[in-house]
Amino acid sequence: MQEIHARHVLTPNGWEQDRIVRIDSSGRIDEVSPALSGLEGSVDLLLPAPTNLHSHSFQRAMAGLTEARGPDPSDSFCTWRHLMYRFLDRRTPDHVEAIAALAFVEMLESGFGSVAEFHYLHHASGGRAYADPAEMATRIARAADLTGIGLTLLPVLYMQGGCDGRALEGGQLRFGCDLDRFSVLHQSSAVALKALPEDTRLGVAPHSLRAVPSNALRQAAELVPGAPVHLHLAEQQAEVEEVEAHLGARPVSWLINHHTPDERWCLIHCTQMTAGETRRLASTGAIAGLCPITEANLGDGIFDGVTFSNAGGRFGVGSDSNVHISLWSELAMLDYSQRLRDRRRAALATPHHSTGRVLFDAACRSGAQAAGRHAGAIAPGHWADLMAIRTDTPGLCARHGDAWLDSLVFGGHGEQHVVDVWSAGRHVVQQGQHIARDRIALAFMDIMKDLEDVM
Ligand code: ZN
Repeated sequence: MQEIHARHVLTPNGWEQDRIVRIDSSGRIDEVSPALSGLEGSVDLLLPAPTNLHSHSFQRAMAGLTEARGPDPSDSFCTWRHLMYRFLDRRTPDHVEAIAALAFVEMLESGFGSVAEFHYLHHASGGRAYADPAEMATRIARAADLTGIGLTLLPVLYMQGGCDGRALEGGQLRFGCDLDRFSVLHQSSAVALKALPEDTRLGVAPHSLRAVPSNALRQAAELVPGAPVHLHLAEQQAEVEEVEAHLGARPVSWLINHHTPDERWCLIHCTQMTAGETRRLASTGAIAGLCPITEANLGDGIFDGVTFSNAGGRFGVGSDSNVHISLWSELAMLDYSQRLRDRRRAALATPHHSTGRVLFDAACRSGAQAAGRHAGAIAPGHWADLMAIRTDTPGLCARHGDAWLDSLVFGGHGEQHVVDVWSAGRHVVQQGQHIARDRIALAFMDIMKDLEDVM
């Protein structure tokens, strides 16, 4: 049994003072009770550590490498994708493990307690099978184990190069599976995850409407009944046009018309929706998985968070390309994009709560739902995904209640206030740093030397 003494705790009942949070040996919160005696050694502020609901960890190594213009300025996304394929070509399982480990360390240090890893780099160069079909998934699992981050692994089904059914080519061959090959890969991934702690989850991720035909999308979703289903949806205008031309409707409309997205589903991006689609999606119970920093980096567009929230929709955030791993900056970028579009302030605030509180609550609740993880709240029975925040800093010293969250999100340097992080009770960030950071950072830098000539 671990005990955390906290001066202030954000619980489902709101802000509570002078509490002891007890964590049982399985990593679940056992009890939140008043502290009767002194609070020696207590943390200033204890918050739930949300799930990062969308990550491609291997892309962390590409951060900052895709900021030059290609020859065709109208084709900037394809330029990014082209670089990604070139970079991927030499990636080995050792590389994937080392890069994922560093990305997971950075997520934890930022205040995320767990990650939903949308994992699609399955095979060796040219699509050749590894001896173990889940070799790469095993490496992601090892990186999670090494860092202690809570993992929801989402093996990706990627079948075709576009809605017209064209074959995969070049770099895409490393992602590709037909349904039979995917089914084997998925089962092998389940075996690989058995070595991980009890909070680990396995879901499934049909890559996108471009990469997976409708009947295969249905079969993939049925592969793991009750588990999370994640899908990239309506990210780019070109994708909308392609889906409309081949399937006869815009992506979000088509998905709702032909499938039944519900609480199991997490739809990533949704930056290209009409107001009608936004309201329809909100009513499904599915999570909109937003990645505001990556969406800004790629020039995707702006998710209509205002209409979606007003219609009762649920959204969470993910770091996607991992170009910049920051829980707090993702949340700020989300609201700033709404403000810039609508020319108004505090876009997602409600009459009851300020913007930072609304965004943080959404990240906790929706992240947990998207990951299929009983977490996101400091309450008995939930996984102890927690972060301790120091408030004796210039940024937080004169704040209280929701203003703590507003200052962490909008005041900058949110990460610098994160002192401790627990993932399902595993105390992996201490004194502001991951306990294995030095070793993992060195391994990452060795890998980068190895890859230098392709950059
Ligand atoms: Zn993605």
